[in-house]
Amino acid sequence: MYVPENSSPPHRAKKSLGQNFLTDRRALDDIAGAIPVSDRYIVEIGPGYGALTEVLLSHHPARLDLVELDRDLIAHLEKRKQEEWTASAEKIRIHHADILHYDPPSEPYDIIANIPYYITSPILFRFLYEVKHPPERMVALIQREVAEKILEVDGRHSSLSLAIAARCSHRQLIRHVSARAFSPAPKVESSVIALTVSTDAPDHALLQLLRRGFSHPRKKLSSNLATDPDGKIRIETLLCDMGFPADARAETLGLDAWREILRHMDIRPITDLLIGGQAASRW
Ligand code: SAM
Repeated sequence: MYVPENSSPPHRAKKSLGQNFLTDRRALDDIAGAIPVSDRYIVEIGPGYGALTEVLLSHHPARLDLVELDRDLIAHLEKRKQEEWTASAEKIRIHHADILHYDPPSEPYDIIANIPYYITSPILFRFLYEVKHPPERMVALIQREVAEKILEVDGRHSSLSLAIAARCSHRQLIRHVSARAFSPAPKVESSVIALTVSTDAPDHALLQLLRRGFSHPRKKLSSNLATDPDGKIRIETLLCDMGFPADARAETLGLDAWREILRHMDIRPITDLLIGGQAASRW
Protein backbone atom coordinates (compact mmCIF):
# COMPACT_ATOMS: atom_id res chain seq x y z
CA MET A 1 0.00 0.00 0.00
CA TYR A 2 1.19 3.45 -0.95
CA VAL A 3 0.67 6.23 1.57
CA PRO A 4 1.13 9.56 -0.18
CA GLU A 5 3.42 11.88 1.69
CA ASN A 6 1.41 14.77 3.19
CA SER A 7 -1.79 13.12 1.96
CA SER A 8 -2.33 10.76 4.86
CA PRO A 9 -4.56 11.87 7.72
CA PRO A 10 -2.55 13.53 10.52
CA HIS A 11 -5.55 13.34 12.87
CA ARG A 12 -8.80 11.46 13.26
CA ALA A 13 -10.98 11.27 10.17
CA LYS A 14 -14.43 12.81 10.57
CA LYS A 15 -16.98 10.06 10.06
CA SER A 16 -19.81 12.56 9.71
CA LEU A 17 -18.11 14.00 6.59
CA GLY A 18 -17.55 10.59 4.99
CA GLN A 19 -13.79 10.88 5.41
CA ASN A 20 -12.23 7.66 4.12
CA PHE A 21 -8.96 8.67 2.55
CA LEU A 22 -7.68 6.70 -0.40
CA THR A 23 -4.11 5.49 0.14
CA ASP A 24 -3.71 2.95 -2.66
CA ARG A 25 -1.55 4.39 -5.44
CA ARG A 26 -2.95 2.13 -8.17
CA ALA A 27 -6.52 3.08 -7.33
CA LEU A 28 -5.56 6.78 -7.35
CA ASP A 29 -3.87 6.35 -10.75
CA ASP A 30 -6.88 4.52 -12.17
CA ILE A 31 -9.27 7.26 -11.05
CA ALA A 32 -7.09 10.04 -12.45
CA GLY A 33 -6.52 8.04 -15.66
CA ALA A 34 -10.18 7.14 -16.25
CA ILE A 35 -10.70 10.12 -18.57
CA PRO A 36 -8.28 12.51 -20.30
CA VAL A 37 -7.26 15.18 -17.77
CA SER A 38 -4.56 16.97 -19.73
CA ASP A 39 -5.68 20.53 -20.62
CA ARG A 40 -9.16 19.90 -19.19
CA TYR A 41 -10.94 21.94 -16.53
CA ILE A 42 -11.38 19.53 -13.63
CA VAL A 43 -13.50 19.94 -10.50
CA GLU A 44 -12.49 17.63 -7.66
CA ILE A 45 -15.10 17.06 -4.97
CA GLY A 46 -13.77 16.52 -1.45
CA PRO A 47 -10.00 16.58 -2.07
CA GLY A 48 -9.31 15.76 1.59
CA TYR A 49 -5.56 15.87 2.15
CA GLY A 50 -4.91 16.06 -1.59
CA ALA A 51 -3.92 12.47 -2.42
CA LEU A 52 -5.99 12.38 -5.62
CA THR A 53 -5.27 16.07 -6.25
CA GLU A 54 -1.57 15.34 -6.45
CA VAL A 55 -2.07 12.58 -9.02
CA LEU A 56 -4.47 14.78 -11.01
CA LEU A 57 -1.85 17.54 -11.12
CA SER A 58 0.65 15.11 -12.62
CA HIS A 59 -1.78 14.78 -15.58
CA HIS A 60 -1.58 18.55 -16.23
CA PRO A 61 -5.16 19.80 -16.14
CA ALA A 62 -5.77 23.32 -17.50
CA ARG A 63 -7.52 24.19 -14.25
CA LEU A 64 -8.30 22.34 -11.06
CA ASP A 65 -11.05 23.49 -8.69
CA LEU A 66 -11.03 21.79 -5.28
CA VAL A 67 -14.29 21.88 -3.32
CA GLU A 68 -13.86 20.84 0.31
CA LEU A 69 -16.21 21.33 3.26
CA ASP A 70 -13.82 20.61 6.15
CA ARG A 71 -12.10 23.83 7.26
CA ASP A 72 -9.14 21.92 8.76
CA LEU A 73 -8.47 20.32 5.38
CA ILE A 74 -8.73 23.66 3.60
CA ALA A 75 -5.81 24.93 5.67
CA HIS A 76 -3.82 21.80 4.78
CA LEU A 77 -4.61 22.17 1.06
CA GLU A 78 -3.66 25.87 1.07
CA LYS A 79 -0.33 24.95 2.63
CA ARG A 80 0.33 22.25 0.03
CA LYS A 81 -0.62 24.64 -2.76
CA GLN A 82 1.87 27.22 -1.52
CA GLU A 83 4.68 24.87 -0.55
CA GLU A 84 4.46 21.81 -2.81
CA TRP A 85 2.26 22.58 -5.79
CA THR A 86 3.89 25.93 -6.57
CA ALA A 87 4.47 25.09 -10.26
CA SER A 88 0.72 24.45 -10.69
CA ALA A 89 -0.50 26.97 -8.10
CA GLU A 90 -2.04 29.29 -10.70
CA LYS A 91 -4.30 26.52 -11.98
CA ILE A 92 -5.63 25.57 -8.54
CA ARG A 93 -8.63 27.21 -6.88
CA ILE A 94 -9.57 26.00 -3.42
CA HIS A 95 -13.24 26.48 -2.47
CA HIS A 96 -14.31 26.06 1.12
CA ALA A 97 -17.87 25.01 0.28
CA ASP A 98 -20.54 22.36 0.49
CA ILE A 99 -20.58 20.68 -2.91
CA LEU A 100 -24.39 20.68 -2.82
CA HIS A 101 -24.29 24.49 -2.87
CA TYR A 102 -21.27 25.00 -5.10
CA ASP A 103 -21.94 26.68 -8.46
CA PRO A 104 -19.92 24.90 -11.14
CA PRO A 105 -18.04 26.77 -13.87
CA SER A 106 -19.80 27.91 -17.02
CA GLU A 107 -16.93 26.62 -19.17
CA PRO A 108 -16.76 22.93 -20.18
CA TYR A 109 -15.49 20.88 -17.25
CA ASP A 110 -15.31 17.34 -15.82
CA ILE A 111 -15.77 16.10 -12.27
CA ILE A 112 -13.41 13.61 -10.67
CA ALA A 113 -14.03 12.57 -7.10
CA ASN A 114 -13.68 10.12 -4.30
CA ILE A 115 -17.22 10.92 -3.19
CA PRO A 116 -18.26 11.33 0.47
CA TYR A 117 -20.66 8.35 0.54
CA TYR A 118 -23.32 9.97 2.73
CA ILE A 119 -24.26 12.24 -0.19
CA THR A 120 -23.60 10.03 -3.23
CA SER A 121 -27.09 10.32 -4.76
CA PRO A 122 -27.53 14.04 -4.00
CA ILE A 123 -24.20 14.77 -5.72
CA LEU A 124 -25.03 12.70 -8.80
CA PHE A 125 -28.52 14.13 -8.98
CA ARG A 126 -27.37 17.72 -8.50
CA PHE A 127 -24.73 17.61 -11.24
CA LEU A 128 -26.85 15.63 -13.70
CA TYR A 129 -30.21 17.35 -13.18
CA GLU A 130 -30.00 20.54 -11.18
CA VAL A 131 -27.02 22.69 -12.07
CA LYS A 132 -27.19 25.15 -14.96
CA HIS A 133 -23.86 23.92 -16.33
CA PRO A 134 -23.51 20.15 -15.96
CA PRO A 135 -20.11 18.47 -16.35
CA GLU A 136 -19.20 16.75 -19.63
CA ARG A 137 -17.91 13.71 -17.76
CA MET A 138 -17.96 12.44 -14.20
CA VAL A 139 -15.59 9.94 -12.64
CA ALA A 140 -16.75 8.91 -9.19
CA LEU A 141 -15.53 6.48 -6.56
CA ILE A 142 -18.73 5.34 -4.88
CA GLN A 143 -20.12 2.40 -2.88
CA ARG A 144 -19.93 -0.78 -4.98
CA GLU A 145 -23.59 -1.54 -4.24
CA VAL A 146 -24.65 1.84 -5.66
CA ALA A 147 -22.32 1.45 -8.67
CA GLU A 148 -23.83 -1.95 -9.45
CA LYS A 149 -27.32 -0.51 -9.12
CA ILE A 150 -26.44 2.33 -11.53
CA LEU A 151 -24.89 -0.12 -14.00
CA GLU A 152 -27.84 -2.53 -13.60
CA VAL A 153 -25.49 -5.43 -12.96
CA ASP A 154 -28.34 -7.72 -11.87
CA GLY A 155 -30.43 -6.74 -14.91
CA ARG A 156 -32.96 -4.86 -12.77
CA HIS A 157 -33.85 -1.24 -13.33
CA SER A 158 -34.23 1.25 -10.49
CA SER A 159 -35.28 4.89 -10.36
CA LEU A 160 -31.59 5.77 -9.81
CA SER A 161 -30.27 3.69 -12.73
CA LEU A 162 -32.96 4.98 -15.10
CA ALA A 163 -32.50 8.60 -14.02
CA ILE A 164 -28.76 8.28 -14.70
CA ALA A 165 -29.23 6.35 -17.97
CA ALA A 166 -31.58 9.11 -19.14
CA ARG A 167 -28.85 11.73 -18.60
CA CYS A 168 -25.73 9.82 -19.65
CA SER A 169 -24.82 8.58 -23.10
CA HIS A 170 -22.26 6.24 -21.58
CA ARG A 171 -21.90 4.54 -18.17
CA GLN A 172 -18.77 2.53 -17.47
CA LEU A 173 -17.26 0.55 -14.64
CA ILE A 174 -13.57 1.48 -14.31
CA ARG A 175 -12.68 -0.88 -11.45
CA HIS A 176 -13.61 -2.12 -8.02
CA VAL A 177 -11.69 -0.83 -4.98
CA SER A 178 -11.25 -2.88 -1.82
CA ALA A 179 -12.00 -1.35 1.59
CA ARG A 180 -8.31 -1.94 2.43
CA ALA A 181 -7.36 0.78 -0.06
CA PHE A 182 -8.67 3.45 2.35
CA SER A 183 -7.68 4.85 5.71
CA PRO A 184 -9.79 4.43 7.72
CA ALA A 185 -11.35 1.48 5.86
CA PRO A 186 -15.05 1.99 5.07
CA LYS A 187 -17.55 -0.76 5.98
CA VAL A 188 -18.38 -1.33 2.30
CA GLU A 189 -16.57 -2.20 -0.90
CA SER A 190 -16.25 0.54 -3.53
CA SER A 191 -16.16 0.99 -7.30
CA VAL A 192 -15.04 3.67 -9.72
CA ILE A 193 -17.52 4.56 -12.45
CA ALA A 194 -17.26 6.99 -15.38
CA LEU A 195 -20.28 8.76 -16.84
CA THR A 196 -20.46 10.70 -20.10
CA VAL A 197 -23.17 13.31 -19.71
CA SER A 198 -25.60 13.81 -22.57
CA THR A 199 -25.71 17.24 -24.20
CA ASP A 200 -29.55 17.10 -24.26
CA ALA A 201 -31.42 19.06 -21.62
CA PRO A 202 -32.49 17.02 -18.57
CA ASP A 203 -36.03 15.64 -18.76
CA HIS A 204 -37.62 16.58 -15.44
CA ALA A 205 -41.02 15.17 -16.45
CA LEU A 206 -39.41 11.75 -16.94
CA LEU A 207 -37.86 12.09 -13.52
CA GLN A 208 -41.24 12.85 -12.03
CA LEU A 209 -42.72 9.79 -13.77
CA LEU A 210 -39.92 7.56 -12.43
CA ARG A 211 -40.48 8.87 -8.94
CA ARG A 212 -44.17 8.00 -9.15
CA GLY A 213 -43.58 4.68 -10.86
CA PHE A 214 -41.14 3.52 -8.18
CA SER A 215 -43.02 5.03 -5.22
CA HIS A 216 -44.06 1.51 -4.04
CA PRO A 217 -41.67 -0.86 -5.86
CA ARG A 218 -43.54 -3.99 -4.74
CA LYS A 219 -46.84 -2.75 -6.14
CA LYS A 220 -47.93 -3.07 -9.75
CA LEU A 221 -46.69 -0.20 -11.90
CA SER A 222 -50.26 0.61 -12.99
CA SER A 223 -51.27 1.07 -9.32
CA ASN A 224 -48.34 3.43 -8.71
CA LEU A 225 -49.07 5.55 -11.77
CA ALA A 226 -52.87 5.66 -11.95
CA THR A 227 -54.98 8.08 -9.96
CA ASP A 228 -58.34 6.40 -10.78
CA PRO A 229 -59.64 3.01 -12.05
CA ASP A 230 -59.98 4.24 -15.66
CA GLY A 231 -56.39 5.47 -15.62
CA LYS A 232 -55.28 2.07 -14.32
CA ILE A 233 -56.97 0.30 -17.23
CA ARG A 234 -55.39 2.74 -19.71
CA ILE A 235 -51.91 2.10 -18.28
CA GLU A 236 -52.43 -1.67 -18.26
CA THR A 237 -53.56 -1.54 -21.92
CA LEU A 238 -50.51 0.55 -22.80
CA LEU A 239 -48.22 -1.93 -21.02
CA CYS A 240 -49.76 -4.83 -22.96
CA ASP A 241 -49.42 -2.88 -26.25
CA MET A 242 -45.71 -2.48 -25.44
CA GLY A 243 -45.36 -6.22 -24.81
CA PHE A 244 -45.34 -6.16 -20.99
CA PRO A 245 -47.79 -7.97 -18.71
CA ALA A 246 -50.60 -5.78 -17.34
CA ASP A 247 -49.30 -6.38 -13.81
CA ALA A 248 -45.67 -5.42 -14.65
CA ARG A 249 -43.55 -3.91 -11.87
CA ALA A 250 -41.50 -0.76 -12.34
CA GLU A 251 -38.12 -2.54 -12.19
CA THR A 252 -38.89 -4.61 -15.32
CA LEU A 253 -39.19 -1.62 -17.67
CA GLY A 254 -36.23 -0.10 -19.52
CA LEU A 255 -35.74 3.54 -20.45
CA ASP A 256 -37.48 3.33 -23.85
CA ALA A 257 -40.62 1.94 -22.21
CA TRP A 258 -40.64 4.73 -19.62
CA ARG A 259 -40.28 7.33 -22.37
CA GLU A 260 -43.19 5.71 -24.22
CA ILE A 261 -45.37 5.84 -21.07
CA LEU A 262 -44.42 9.49 -20.61
CA ARG A 263 -45.71 10.27 -24.10
CA HIS A 264 -49.14 8.98 -23.00
CA MET A 265 -49.33 10.66 -19.62
CA ASP A 266 -49.81 14.20 -18.47
CA ILE A 267 -46.84 14.59 -16.13
CA ARG A 268 -45.50 17.99 -15.23
CA PRO A 269 -42.21 18.27 -13.43
CA ILE A 270 -42.52 19.64 -9.90
CA THR A 271 -39.64 22.07 -10.22
CA ASP A 272 -39.75 23.27 -6.62
CA LEU A 273 -38.75 19.75 -5.60
CA LEU A 274 -35.53 20.30 -7.50
CA ILE A 275 -34.18 23.12 -5.36
CA GLY A 276 -31.24 22.69 -3.03
CA GLY A 277 -30.73 18.97 -3.44
CA GLN A 278 -33.98 18.16 -1.63
CA ALA A 279 -35.23 16.06 -4.49
CA ALA A 280 -31.94 14.24 -4.61
CA SER A 281 -32.38 12.80 -1.15
CA ARG A 282 -35.43 10.92 -2.42
CA TRP A 283 -33.41 8.61 -4.66
N1 SAM B 1 -10.22 12.87 -2.04
C1 SAM B 1 -9.73 12.38 -0.77
C2 SAM B 1 -9.15 11.00 -0.98
O1 SAM B 1 -9.37 10.44 -2.05
O2 SAM B 1 -8.49 10.50 -0.10
C3 SAM B 1 -10.82 12.38 0.31
C4 SAM B 1 -12.07 11.62 -0.03
S1 SAM B 1 -13.17 11.41 1.34
C5 SAM B 1 -14.04 9.97 0.87
C6 SAM B 1 -14.45 12.63 1.06
C7 SAM B 1 -14.02 14.08 1.20
O3 SAM B 1 -15.16 14.90 0.96
C8 SAM B 1 -13.53 14.48 2.58
O4 SAM B 1 -12.36 15.24 2.44
C9 SAM B 1 -14.65 15.30 3.19
O5 SAM B 1 -14.22 16.26 4.13
C10 SAM B 1 -15.23 15.93 1.94
N2 SAM B 1 -16.65 16.32 2.06
C11 SAM B 1 -17.61 15.74 2.82
N3 SAM B 1 -18.79 16.35 2.64
C12 SAM B 1 -18.59 17.33 1.73
C13 SAM B 1 -19.43 18.30 1.13
N4 SAM B 1 -20.74 18.36 1.43
N5 SAM B 1 -18.90 19.17 0.24
C14 SAM B 1 -17.56 19.11 -0.07
N6 SAM B 1 -16.71 18.20 0.47
C15 SAM B 1 -17.21 17.32 1.35
